[in-house]
Amino acid sequence: MNYFSTRDTSLRLSSAEAIVRGLSKDGGLFCPESIPKFTDEEKAFLISASYQKRAALVLGKFLTDFSEEELISFAEKAYSSEKFDTEAVAPVHMLEKNLGILELWHGPTCAFKDMALQMLPYLLSSSLKKTGEKRTASILVATSGDTGKAALEGFADVEGTKIAVFYPKDGVSKIQERQMTTQSGENVYVSSVVGNFDDVQSAMKEIFSDEEIRGKASENGCIFSSANSINWGRAVPQIAYYVSGYFDLLKNGAISEDDEINVCVPTGNFGNILAAFYAREMGIPIKKFICASNSNNVLTDFFKDGKYDKNRQFHVTASPAMDILVSSNLERLIFNMSGNDDKTVRKYMSKLQSDGAYTVSAEIFSRISDLFYGGCCDDVKTLKTISDVFSEHNYLIDTHTAVAVNVYKKYAEETQDGAVTLLASTASPFKFADSVLSALGIDISSGGEELLEILSKTTKQKVPAPLASIFEKEERFLNTANREDLADVVLKFTEGTV
Ligand SMILES: *Cc1c(COP(=O)(O)O)cnc(C)c1O
Repeated sequence: MNYFSTRDTSLRLSSAEAIVRGLSKDGGLFCPESIPKFTDEEKAFLISASYQKRAALVLGKFLTDFSEEELISFAEKAYSSEKFDTEAVAPVHMLEKNLGILELWHGPTCAFKDMALQMLPYLLSSSLKKTGEKRTASILVATSGDTGKAALEGFADVEGTKIAVFYPKDGVSKIQERQMTTQSGENVYVSSVVGNFDDVQSAMKEIFSDEEIRGKASENGCIFSSANSINWGRAVPQIAYYVSGYFDLLKNGAISEDDEINVCVPTGNFGNILAAFYAREMGIPIKKFICASNSNNVLTDFFKDGKYDKNRQFHVTASPAMDILVSSNLERLIFNMSGNDDKTVRKYMSKLQSDGAYTVSAEIFSRISDLFYGGCCDDVKTLKTISDVFSEHNYLIDTHTAVAVNVYKKYAEETQDGAVTLLASTASPFKFADSVLSALGIDISSGGEELLEILSKTTKQKVPAPLASIFEKEERFLNTANREDLADVVLKFTEGTV
């Protein structure tokens, strides 16, 4: 299986090359030439297979330059019982008869990013070897909070790699920040940046596609790579949990083989929901994708009329991992929906660059709106949803998952669609303890560490072990950079002088 860029389909790369490069030089995202389908035999296998086996099978369909043994061994290490606190890895919790919560936060950083970022280091290290790359893979990460920690945790002390993480100074929660600043490992670097997530992400994209900077980094023995959700090596492991969730529903009798399901995802950069779309293309019967946003509702508007317009106020919300105005992975959906037309994608993306907005053709929009429903909710409704779900079901959800539950309810009421919905739960409620506690009406004037204890007492649930330890660790990284200085910081990082 070969890969090309959403902005240049004349390229042909192996999956290993696509993973090493992360982002194409033309600014486009790597996509497979075609999307593989499950055979009937594979489906029969998937229903009773372990999570690790399911993941290895999905990976193998896309990453054809990796052997089955390699992928099984990666999956066993990435999703081991040392890393995940449940054997199911990504269990489905039936909240209501028609609503299954796909819990994606049982990994080492308590957010769904672990599902891909525990796997990516194995894929990347092995890709470096396969492509004969001798330079150190220098992973640059722009994070709205969760990717940063999950990537640090995945790449710390991984041979042949080093990793620098940049986050918006006032855009992450206290717990998220502390998780990153206390990271251990010899090959890691962390800095906050003055600005919001979009500022950090666009600066990183510019650095990636700047020939001069790449050249200098190369002289320092480094090649840039990305652990952001634009890297194909992150997309594929995410497809696996939708496949797994569907087969769990089937196995548990929540659905039968003739049923179609819906998928509902709290969305930021569009990576998670895009993985569900690829699962559908592989043959998982998904009818609707319910795309849930917070007050940064660019996508909600896009799914109404096909106009993507980031020219609007940026809101800092209680679901910070979704505080995004430019959802990078949407480019892959548009590429697919345009029939892999790189010219069309280039046109829209240059419009986005120059005007901050573009409108897709009526034909593309009609294909998209057949499959996608967009909805949004503000912080007040988010917190109310947390308290409603807790009092009704004695089940605690985080702020991001709450946005999705709120939008799902709206969708179900508007459409009267009673199909079973798989809803992606993207973080442990403990990770956003301050917001969750205030949703439950509990005073949160005390600091970060106590909040975890209070939440634990209130809900009679244990603080997840990885979070319990961060307040004992020393903060190693207290750097702040300005956006203009990031290229400099990155070059120093490649020199090893920061
Ligand atoms: C990253 C993240 C999201 C958004 O996922 P995308 O793939 O960027 O759409 C939602 N919730 C949480 C908790 C996250 O960490």
